[in-house]
Amino acid sequence: MPEIVIATNNAGKIGEFQRLLAGSGWRMRSPAELGLDFNPVEDGVGYAENALIKARSAHELSSMAVLADDSGIEVDALGGEPGVHSARYAGEGASDSDNRAKLLSAIGAAAPRTARFRCLLALIEPSGREHIFEGVVEGSIARAERGSNGFGYDPIFEPEGMDRTMAELDASLKDELSHRGRAARAALWVLRELAAHPI
Ligand code: IMP
Repeated sequence: MPEIVIATNNAGKIGEFQRLLAGSGWRMRSPAELGLDFNPVEDGVGYAENALIKARSAHELSSMAVLADDSGIEVDALGGEPGVHSARYAGEGASDSDNRAKLLSAIGAAAPRTARFRCLLALIEPSGREHIFEGVVEGSIARAERGSNGFGYDPIFEPEGMDRTMAELDASLKDELSHRGRAARAALWVLRELAAHPI
């Protein structure tokens, strides 16, 4: 089976890609497993640029096929913030829990509490050819944290039409609804085609 690098050091994301792309025909490998010194500077102006920075870095280090995503949460009451700054919202080295606490405090009692998760997924073929896919899930910010599944902002995000946070959903339901699930399903047909006809 051909191998693809999942270019992230986030264990939560690696687990999700393993589930989402299980039928893709590719064996997924993390940078750590491959011994890659993968620490790109994510200084792009948007998600697509950051996804490509990560994917190109892993491709240069490995010469393999690579998938990298950049994602974030956009809160309407905060003018779309934290958006592309989601990972470091509460400062450099902030934990997921610090970021959630800062977001809950920034939104306060504001209404409406509408928000969305966005994921931009970059795929680089072994030849260097690049593809970009996008997935979005609409929802709103909960009043307090609930649930212990998932990672990141999941405990404070309620997908539209659900009375549960993303962290209260089981993995298969999160995959069905999530921004990353949607982007990964868009990438799936290219990955299957590539696995069947490698260049
Ligand atoms: P990055 O894409 O690795 O830069 O992460 C962006 C930020 O969004 C991090 O704080 C992640 O924890 C958060 N994030 C990304 N995807 C998800 C998700 O599926 N659920 C909750 N938080 C997420």
